[in-house]
Amino acid sequence: MVAAVASYLDARARGGTWFVRMEDLDPPREVPGAADDILRTLEGFGLNWDGEVLYQHTRHAAYRAALDQLVEEDKAFGCCCTRRDLAEADGLQVYPGTCRAGLPSGVEPRSWRFRMPDHEELVWQDAVQGDQRYASERVGDVTLLRADGQWAYHLAVVVDDEYQGITDVVRGADLVDATAAHIALQRALGFRPLRYAHLPIVTNAQGQKLSKQSLAQPVSVVEAPQTLKKVFAHLRITGYEMDAPPKMLDQATSNWQLSLLKQRGA
Ligand SMILES: [Zn+2]
Repeated sequence: MVAAVASYLDARARGGTWFVRMEDLDPPREVPGAADDILRTLEGFGLNWDGEVLYQHTRHAAYRAALDQLVEEDKAFGCCCTRRDLAEADGLQVYPGTCRAGLPSGVEPRSWRFRMPDHEELVWQDAVQGDQRYASERVGDVTLLRADGQWAYHLAVVVDDEYQGITDVVRGADLVDATAAHIALQRALGFRPLRYAHLPIVTNAQGQKLSKQSLAQPVSVVEAPQTLKKVFAHLRITGYEMDAPPKMLDQATSNWQLSLLKQRGA
């Protein structure tokens, strides 16, 4: 809800459009009806989106075309490593480059990876987190098509941001590292650069991000004004009156200042 409200206000305050995208790349893990629940919740909070909702499960052909282009230009490679192979590589978070030079003859790729350029600086001016600078080696050869046949988040997001003409991405600071990979992929595919703002995330008392994994309760449209009040406090929004959600959002749009979050860190 924090990311939804902040991105909505940022778009509205600047006369932009606000899109909703369902990143439903993992059908086995999807709860039936979850996407509709999300849309009904957004509507209940007065967060009305522009245009059609884009569902990533309808976009597989576009992800395939992007991967084919990268493979054609030798910017992606097949990888035969198993999860266990990679775990044994010293618990490295970054792929150790095992299959970069090609697979042994007769070995089929299990997954496909981006060939991250060596010695490239991935930099952006984040509207909340400030100057960000990543060496490409710190990001590594991220997965594009997973061993289970599902498209990886990194590729799908980059392809769809370009397809939808996205100019500004406003999301949680837990995705800052992913942005470095996205910038490298945008360059490799010849896509436009985007502007980014990574918001402070909401945590529980143990410092864990509120999410399904940390067993947080779902946002409910019951008591929507009270929930919006908490979201506004997190986003440093002041100078509004309690009212129906659409009126609260209108007031917040007039007072929206992303720069107020700059001192908050992640
Ligand atoms: Zn490999």
